[in-house]
Amino acid sequence: MAENEHIVIESGEAAQPFNYAVGMYGSRFFKELRENKKIMGVKCPTCGKVYVPPRGVCGPCFQEMKEFVEVGPGGVIGTYTILRFAFIDPETGHQKPVPYGYGFIKLDGADTLFQHYIDLVDEKKVRIGARVEPVWANERKGTIKDIQYFRVVE
Ligand SMILES: [Zn+2]
Repeated sequence: MAENEHIVIESGEAAQPFNYAVGMYGSRFFKELRENKKIMGVKCPTCGKVYVPPRGVCGPCFQEMKEFVEVGPGGVIGTYTILRFAFIDPETGHQKPVPYGYGFIKLDGADTLFQHYIDLVDEKKVRIGARVEPVWANERKGTIKDIQYFRVVE
């Protein structure tokens, strides 16, 4: 094999017929995305930390969390990467067109980083600390794809 040759293994059109319950917290999170274009977190009653996406227990406090709070929708890029090497997208079984951005975003009011795609229309503006906002899907279905990606705003 030549040094510059790449190996690509595709799963093709193989079906992945798996369903799983996202639980009470995930259900609320995805329902709010779909119906209200709201991003919800959950707040720890002991330390006040806001987790996005929401989860049941604050690990450091070992405290159950029940207070849902709206965060964002804007935020800042905490860290990111730009993918320039095509690989098989496990969601589709096909190569995702490159380049594309993927980042960890600190939504306003949240204390954790939220992972999502970052638009690269103006790649020079993509940097740690850049303000971003979500671009919503026209037809929302209650999945993470209800947010198409985040884009840098001035
Ligand atoms: Zn806590």
